[in-house]
Parts: sequence; structure tokens; C-alpha cells
Amino acid sequence: MQHFPIFLDLQGRRVVLAGGGNAALAKLRLLLKTEARLTVIAADPAPEIRAWAAEHRLALIARAMAPGDALCAALFYAAHEDATEDARAAALARADGALVNIVDNLEDSAFITPAIVDRDPVTVAIGTEGAAPVLARAIKADLEERLPAGLGTLARIGKAFRAAAERLPFGEPRRRFWRDYYFDAGPRALAKGAAHVQAALETLLDRSLARTPRAPFVEFVGAGPGDPDLLTLKARKALDRADVVIHDRLVSPAILDLARREATIIDAGKEGFGPSMAQQDITALILAHATDGAHVVRLKGGDPGVFGRLDEEIETVEDAGIAYGIVPGITAASAAAASLGRSLTRRGRNGALRIVTGHDARGFAEQDWAALAKPGAITAIYMGKRAARFLQGRLMMHGADPATPVSVVENAGRPGERLLPTNLGALSADLDDAQLTGPAVILLGLAPPEAAALPALPQLEEALP
Ligand code: SAH
Repeated sequence: MQHFPIFLDLQGRRVVLAGGGNAALAKLRLLLKTEARLTVIAADPAPEIRAWAAEHRLALIARAMAPGDALCAALFYAAHEDATEDARAAALARADGALVNIVDNLEDSAFITPAIVDRDPVTVAIGTEGAAPVLARAIKADLEERLPAGLGTLARIGKAFRAAAERLPFGEPRRRFWRDYYFDAGPRALAKGAAHVQAALETLLDRSLARTPRAPFVEFVGAGPGDPDLLTLKARKALDRADVVIHDRLVSPAILDLARREATIIDAGKEGFGPSMAQQDITALILAHATDGAHVVRLKGGDPGVFGRLDEEIETVEDAGIAYGIVPGITAASAAAASLGRSLTRRGRNGALRIVTGHDARGFAEQDWAALAKPGAITAIYMGKRAARFLQGRLMMHGADPATPVSVVENAGRPGERLLPTNLGALSADLDDAQLTGPAVILLGLAPPEAAALPALPQLEEALP
């Protein structure tokens, strides 16, 4: 981020603009919305500028820029549409100590003016650091459409009511009050006329004060394989509401970035074979925060109901009499099959799909090997990297063909995705050679669509965000 966005208080501050043509007019229309004291310096100002000067909306100095003209100015705009004159005026303004912007000259400007969506006091600034003005315009058009025209009025009236709303307890009750106001009671009252909004706020506050404090609630949420685009909308909303997010190791930073800014984020990372937070410590954490009245989101990689110890955590929460909900997520096998470009089931090939673990609490996990070894059977093996040799041995002992295709997908649906096509006979040697470091799913019985036509590994990685 070369340019850091801030909102500058221009109330009563001096802003000087040099130039009198179309570029000057465009900037002035924006600047006239502020509470700055505006001065325009132009040898030949457009009639609009003369008119604004006559209305005392700005001061006009009808000559070329001279030394000292930008003294005490917070901001200076050079808008002559003439590179030489702009450079001369900018140098004078810099000498006067002003922050300088030259219209359409990013390189020589100390600041840039973003595209603005104005619902004063709600202001959205959009900048692309000059990379894609078209994109900025498209985003602005989209927001202009989406943000109701009355939003500014609601925010202004709401701002004056903030002190009154402080009677509500800090945290969720207050947030819920403002949500109800901005998205429900406020717009409804405004539709009847701005005069109704204040009364609506008062009614809403009375109702909110009368409401009993919120019961504790825990949401078990699936974060999917790692790409934020693979989160469900429900998961996003849960992250938006969370007071506390307790996540496991598989949840990517990009997803945690989506949590409400004020939320407390706790890493309860459980490394497969490494150091980990004990399960009872995690459940104790969930309980402690929930009984404190926090909205707890227990965020788990993939789907919380697949090898996520979900039942153990639910039982504790249930025993404590705390309400809970479950938000499913995209499990690693789905993401891996999608990356592979294959289907997990297929008419005439496999009417069953097995999801198994390579190891369980007791060590390498035993399975119904004869079923897994059948031709055409498809099995997604989780936590299977270290168990590969064991899996291979058991399956072949039960008659599996060593030529059975196997696809290992590492980091499915997240940056660093890698695909390792192999077969059962070569599985453990190939895994040793590949030295995978990320989470991986072994898809037994599935080959990439056409091994020869597979994109090379680097391309697969590039395709990811
Ligand atoms: N609840 C998770 C699974 C947790 S068990 C889910 O539904 O996906 C942890 C195992 O899941 C890892 O050892 C690995 O086998 C698999 N896994 C999780 N995320 C993965 C990913 N992005 N890519 C490949 N495998 C993944």
C-alpha cells in the first residue's frame, strides 16, 4: 500500500487550487462539499468559478500563481492542464509548505484524491493508486446503487443519538440496537419522512432496554479448505457477529481477516503430531467465553463434522446448557476432487464414497480393507500422509491392484496447492519423494482426467489467488 487512506479534517482549513478550466471545475465541485476555506488562483477562470466567488463560496485571485499564494494551505491542487505551469505552481506551493497534488500526475503528487461515494457523514473513498481508474469507477457506481440515498440522514440522526444508546450494555446489545436501526427501523421511519426517525430511535431503545440479556451461544462453523471464496455466506455472517473466534490450525489467515475487527481471535491449533492445545483446554475455553455472554465462533477447517471432534465439543456445550448451532463447510475431499477436475461418485463406477482417516487416537486406523480394495471404489483418506506405507500394505494384502490410480492433493483450495498423481504401488515412495508439508488428501481410485494433459504444478499454483 503506497498510499495510506485517511480522512482529513478540512473544517476552516485553507485549501488552494491553481487553474481555471475543466480539471479545476471537477476538483472544485468535490472541494465545495467540504468545510474548507477555498482559494482559487486563475488568470482566466471559468464563469462557474467567478459565480462561486460572487456567492462567497470561494476566494478568487484572478492572476497566475505567485510565491506565498499557498502559505498556510493544508492542501494545494495544481489543475492547469498544462504540465509546465502545474510544475511551476506545485514548486511554489511546496515551498509554502503545502501538501501538493497535481491533477493527472500521480508521480509528482504527495497525495491523491480517491473516487468518493458521498452519503455524508458516511463517505466511502475508493483508490487504486492509479492502477485502474476504470475499476474505481465501477466500484463507485456499484456502491452508489447499493447505498440508499437516505443513509446519510440516518447516520446524522443516529450520531446525535449515540449518547442515549450508551444506556444499553456495551457489546452485542448495543450492536444489535444499531443494526436494527440502520437496516430495519431507521429506513422504515425515513420512508415516512425524516421527522419520524427520532421517534423510531426512541421506541427502539425502549424495546432494546426491556429485552432480557442475550443467552450465551456457540456456533461451530466450517471454514472450508482455506480460500475465503469457499466460505459459506452463513460462515461469513457468523464471523461478522463473533465476539470470540477459536480456530484450529487449518484455518487460513485470509479467513481470520474476515472476523469482526473487535473479535478476540484464539489459536487452538492442533498439530497432527506436534504440540497442541489439549481437547479439554479447548472445550474449557469455549465454555468460559460463552458463559461470559460472548458470541463464540468455533472455527474449524473444512466441515466441522468431518474429523473435527465436533461431537466432543458439542457434548460439553450441551452439558453446560448452552445453545449452539452448526454451520457446515466444504470438506477437504470436495475441494481436492474439484481441483483434480473429477467427480467423487460416478454412475456405474462407484455408488459409495468413503471418507476415512489414516490414523486415529490409537495409531494407524483399521478399516474395512476388502471394501476399500474393490475395483472402482473411491476413498478419500484424511490424515494419511504418514500412514501411506501402512495403507498400501493393508490394501494390497486385501487384493487391491497396485495399478489403482491415486491422486494426492496437498493444500486443496488454498495457496500452495499441489497435485501428485500416482498409483497404489508407488504411493508411499512417491509421497516420500514429494516431501509434502501442507495438509493433504489422498484420493484412492481417482486419477486426473487425462494425466498427460494435466497442467504442470507451477501453473496450478499460479491459478490460485
Ligand atoms: N474438518 C476437516 C478435516 C480435518 S482433519 C475437513 O472437513 O476438511 C485434517 C485433515 O484434513 C488433514 O490431515 C488433511 O488430510 C485434510 N485437509 C484439511 N484441509 C485440507 C486441504 N486444504 N487440502 C488437503 N487436505 C486437507
